[in-house]
Amino acid sequence: MEKTALRNAIENNRDVTKLGEVASYIPELAKGNRDALGACIFDTGGNLLLEGDYETKFTIQSVSKVITLICALIDNGKEIVFSKVGNEPSSDPFNSLLKLEIEENHKPLNPFINAGAIVCTSLVAGDNGIEKFTRILNMIRKLANNENIEVNYPVFRSEKLTGNTNRAIAYFLKGAGIIEKDVEDILDTYFKCCSIEVDVEDIARIASVIANNGIAPWSKEMLIPKEVNRIVKATMSTCGLYDSSGKFSVDVGIPAKSGVGGCIMAVVPNRMGIAVVGPSLDKHGNSVAGIKVMESLSRALELSIF
Ligand code: GLU
Repeated sequence: MEKTALRNAIENNRDVTKLGEVASYIPELAKGNRDALGACIFDTGGNLLLEGDYETKFTIQSVSKVITLICALIDNGKEIVFSKVGNEPSSDPFNSLLKLEIEENHKPLNPFINAGAIVCTSLVAGDNGIEKFTRILNMIRKLANNENIEVNYPVFRSEKLTGNTNRAIAYFLKGAGIIEKDVEDILDTYFKCCSIEVDVEDIARIASVIANNGIAPWSKEMLIPKEVNRIVKATMSTCGLYDSSGKFSVDVGIPAKSGVGGCIMAVVPNRMGIAVVGPSLDKHGNSVAGIKVMESLSRALELSIF
């Protein structure tokens, strides 16, 4: 039943990729394949399903913000993390600076907008950016059960060269006293995290651990403490799809996180992790066909948590 639902979800939505555009504000991302559409389900029983263009490699982009939040929470506890970043959804674009000036103490609204993720990056354990990055990369490798995951350096260089809005955000946060570390070092770490290259199986496995209350379905090892896992799922359900998180809740109803590389990572509590890739994006930066695939799957398999 899941296999058929996944196949139908991909095949019935292939044309939707034509309705969007591949991200080009990071020049290297413009090389993504606009027509690609692939998906993976990894369930909490350890079963794997792959469909469509599942071999497509893509950079993790904002899906990394979930793992950065996990590391920041494990390394600092929730009181410290949420003294520097809020829990409220934002109705502004992911890279907006607008609310930073007016929010109380200039705290970014949540960990999944760029400002909040840059703060979380600065909180991850490590004396410098390299140590922080190694901590996040190792966590991604463990959660995906894949030691071979690496950075796509052309994408990293492209982000670093053109990431002036992120640079403005980070310097503002440093001026406001929310970031205490070296800004350029933190930005390099943030850009590197976004540039980690993965496929849908990697992301579905990460999602399956979160779906399974922090325990890896393949080894039964506890990889994420239960309380951290709960916070992450809650944040995904309120803030995961940029400024269309509310609509995604209504239409799909699954905690999820998207990235401008075209991935949507979705967590169906106690059932499965799902990853879809389709680099053609809508105006919010979400995979245009990926959202439709998630809608189809949610309906066919009754996945909405609501
Ligand atoms: N590296 C991207 C940026 O900071 C990530 C954006 C995203 O995936 O939302 O602009």
